[in-house]
Amino acid sequence: MQIIDLHCDVLEKLTRLENVDFRNDSRLDANLNNLKAGNVKVQVFAIFIHPSVPQERKFLEAARQIEAFHTKVLSEPEMIHITEWNQINDLEDGQIGAVLSLEGCDCIGDDLEKLRVILDAGVKLVGLTWNYENEVAYGTLEDSSKGLKPFAKDVIDLLNERNIIIDVAHLNEKGFYDLLPLSKYILASHCNARTLCDHPRNLTDDQVKQLVNHGGRIHVVFYPPFIQKGEDHATIETLVKHVEHLSNLVGIENIGFGSDFDGIEPLFVEKLSNASEFPNLIQALLEKFTEDEVNLLAYSGLVNFVSTIEGRKM
Ligand SMILES: [Zn+2]
Repeated sequence: MQIIDLHCDVLEKLTRLENVDFRNDSRLDANLNNLKAGNVKVQVFAIFIHPSVPQERKFLEAARQIEAFHTKVLSEPEMIHITEWNQINDLEDGQIGAVLSLEGCDCIGDDLEKLRVILDAGVKLVGLTWNYENEVAYGTLEDSSKGLKPFAKDVIDLLNERNIIIDVAHLNEKGFYDLLPLSKYILASHCNARTLCDHPRNLTDDQVKQLVNHGGRIHVVFYPPFIQKGEDHATIETLVKHVEHLSNLVGIENIGFGSDFDGIEPLFVEKLSNASEFPNLIQALLEKFTEDEVNLLAYSGLVNFVSTIEGRKM
């Protein structure tokens, strides 16, 4: 079964590790060989700048990750840059679609021109924050009652105008509710259910319902502390419980995967420690859901979602 994975942090590693090879480097969870072995058909690559990078260097770091995407990921002949969503349908056997996303607007400061440059590089999903406050909003580790900042309006207007998906993973609760009525296309790329695991990175049942009511979706993340509260360890079965809960809440067609591979080491779900192990998860899901349902979750639910994006009919 083909997979779409909405989040990994390979690009950050490609700019940080010495002599790194995207094709088969064992330090990369989502290297090309693992993506192939896991049947991943489309992988979203996040531009993520660690908060320890000084503000004046953040935009340069984003540029370095975009450069690494071109020189280390797209240089592999199997990797196809998806700049328009309908290109997913044109992928041939053996090809893997590669999509850019921006994990938090910290690197643009208060400069919309910098966001334009990043979008021009082909970024298709943008999160307003990572875990902390920036010029746009407050992240999940900040006060949950602080809403979007005035600059958010300019950012959201630009993202809507370009039909960019706005990602609410890492956005704090008030920011989430402020954003809902303002966003054109919205989803959570790597979050679980807070009802099953009370962590601020997870969404409450009300958030999940409202997200889907606004046309959005939620993609589950494979990080054990977001699966079982306070735990560094989780099994595939406990991850599947999040899928079951969310499926009962909003329907399996509105759920997907956002592994967070290369952003979560050394904590992994048992038997799901890199992209090659996706089939273990699919197998466990097939014990609870029909093949059509699992296909919606793994692949076609997201394809159906992006087919609704204006000007991107598939
Ligand atoms: Zn993240």
